[in-house]
Formats: sequence, structure tokens, C-alpha cells
Amino acid sequence: MKSPSPEAIFAPATEVVRLGRDPVRFDGFVNPPVVRGSTVLYPSYDDLVRHKARYTYGRRGNPTTEALETALNALEGAEGTVLTPSGLSAITTALLAVVGSGDHLLVVDTAYRPTRRFCDTILTRLGVEVTYYDPLIGAGIDGLIKPNTRAVFLESPGSQSFEMQDVPAIARIARAHGITTLMDNTWATPIYFRPLAHGIDISISAGTKYLSGHADLNLGTISASGEAWRKVQTTHGDLGICVSPEDAALGSRGLRTLVVRLERHWRSGLAVARWLAEQPQVARLLHPALESDAGHAIWSRDFAGASGLFGVILKPAPEPAVAAFFDALVLFGMGYSWGGFESLAIPFDCSDYRTATQWRAEGPAIRLHIGLEEPADLIADLAQAFAKLDAAR
Ligand SMILES: *Cc1c(COP(=O)(O)O)cnc(C)c1O
Repeated sequence: MKSPSPEAIFAPATEVVRLGRDPVRFDGFVNPPVVRGSTVLYPSYDDLVRHKARYTYGRRGNPTTEALETALNALEGAEGTVLTPSGLSAITTALLAVVGSGDHLLVVDTAYRPTRRFCDTILTRLGVEVTYYDPLIGAGIDGLIKPNTRAVFLESPGSQSFEMQDVPAIARIARAHGITTLMDNTWATPIYFRPLAHGIDISISAGTKYLSGHADLNLGTISASGEAWRKVQTTHGDLGICVSPEDAALGSRGLRTLVVRLERHWRSGLAVARWLAEQPQVARLLHPALESDAGHAIWSRDFAGASGLFGVILKPAPEPAVAAFFDALVLFGMGYSWGGFESLAIPFDCSDYRTATQWRAEGPAIRLHIGLEEPADLIADLAQAFAKLDAAR
């Protein structure tokens, strides 16, 4: 038995199994223990006053949280990674690390709605000027940069509507101006897209989704390098943010199966999307891995895979017919969040909160998360629900 190197050197499927474990340190046990604790005792006065300790205080991390941070850090290719209690707290912590009073922040119009809310309330109250931009802007971001622009926030594909951003083009321009870039990478996870390898400074994920994978955990992760990492580390510490060891251990457990689960979400999601595209009730799909999607070229260029979350726009149908469709679903649960083993369906409408772009849909819009069930069963479920929709027209 040897202690493993903390660097990512093997393929992702191997690394999710190998990283963040050191059986030599923990009496041979395969997984690191769940360490509970606030106080950490120092062996001597000298160790105490010279801060010579791997762990200093429970809030600042312990072997359980460190194991997951180490593993994610290697997968992200970052200098440092911290955990937060939710995906949203990862976003807010990272934003607070890089912008302050008098600064200008550019935020993609298709960002997760609570991200926008944080920008429009707390950041605005703190004196940050926020401008939303079109997700398709690409190198045109140059035209929105002002002397006080401090950061650009990206999310690709966009929440709910799945537009793909030209991440390298935006990152290149921001970097040339000395502007920090942050990206919400929850959809792809570092398995299918590594933001830092594409020029982004701060990679953010809701571990609540695929890392957890079992709808039983809220968790956030922030990974960064260089100056951005120092800012994130300091702000995270100053805000007093910490994650329970049980939650960190659940995150590590999810990590072990992340690659096999994602492969199945990707394949099953595409199978269901291709079937949907053929149905008479469907106007179009919002799925960047489909050849017909406007974002397909960028997805194929930059991403190594797709998750199981996508959108479908139906042809116009009255609301009672849409309600009949949703209520007929047996295998798809109706609920927020996604990334778990189970399939989900929700209606969505971006028209009442986007400000830089105009959301247009031919008919009712539905977001589907394709879980780990047999795709043929999911397709049959959707087919019988479409029959109910047609009957209720
Ligand atoms: C769910 C989600 C979040 C927030 O995660 P929570 O753990 O619910 O706070 C952030 N970004 C995206 C894209 C998400 O889908």
C-alpha cells in the first residue's frame, strides 16, 4: 500500500476512484473517516504559536472535507478548491471574492435565476454595478467592458434555455483586460468541461447535482488558481463558510460513480431527446449535443460529453392539456434540482426575468432530467403522457 499522488495523471474514470483517498493514513480503510470536530489540539507550545499544524480549527477544514477538496482540485486542474454548503453559496462566495463597491460586473443573461437575484439585491446594495449580456456575445464582450469592469460571470449551457457560450473567446478578452472570469459549470461537471483549461479563473459547481447524484445533499465547490484562488480562499475563510463532514463524505461517495453515472445520463438523455424530436407534439429541442442545436458546434469543440438535462419546446397547447401531460407522468417526478438518479420534469418560462435577450418559445417549454432508468421505459412514459395531452386539447 502506497500513499497516492494528489495530481490527476490518469483518465477521469480512474481518477474519480483514486483521488481523495489515502488508506495508509487511515489504518487501511478504503475511505477517509468522517471526522467530527471543532477544536484541534496542538502537540506543543511551539506548534501552537508558529501554527505548525495541518489542521488548525474545525471551520477551516478537516481530513474529510480536505479529501473531497483534494480530489476535485485535481479534476479541475486548479491550485485550490473549497467546499460550500450549497451551489448558490459557492456562487455568492466567489462573486464576493472578486467584486466590491464601485466595480462593474458582467453577468450572462442566462445565468441560474438565484445568481441574478444575488446580483440584483445584495451586490447592487453593496455598490456593484451589474450588466447582463447575451450568452451568444462571444468576442463581442469587448464592447461591454468599462474602465471599472472587474469580473465576467459565465454559465454554459445557460440555465433552462441551454445556449452555449464561446467560453475561450470571452476568457481571452477578459484576460487581456486583466478582468477575472467566473463560470458556473454545474451542467458539465469537470468531467466534461474544465473551465480553468479554457482560460476561466474561477470554476464553480453545484455539487448538489451530479456530484451528489442521489438527491440527498446540497453542496457547492469553487476551484481557482493564482490571484483568484487567493481571493476565494480568503473570502471563504472570512465569511466563516464550512461544510459538515457528513456532507463532504457524501460528496466523496458520489464522486466514485460520477463518470459511470454521467455516461448513462448522457446516452439516455440523447436517446430520449432524439425520440422527442420525432414527435408531432414537439416544436424543437434545446440540447447542445444534438446536431440540430444552435450550440452544437461549440459543444463539440469544447465539451467531452453531455449531461442528462435538456429542454423541449412543445407546439402550442392550452394549459389544461399541459397539466394533463405533467399529471400523467409516472416515472418523471415534478420538482426542482436535478442530477440525481431519478428522472424529473418541470415547466419553465424565461420571459419574465431575462433582460439582455428576449426569450421566445413556440409553445410550452419543459425541462427534463433523464435519470438512470431504462430509456425505453422513460420514452413509453412520455408517449402515454402525450396521449393525455392530445386528449385534453
Ligand atoms: C442548482 C443549481 C445551482 C444551485 O445549487 P444549490 O445547491 O441548489 O444552491 C447553481 N447553479 C446551477 C446551474 C444549478 O442548476
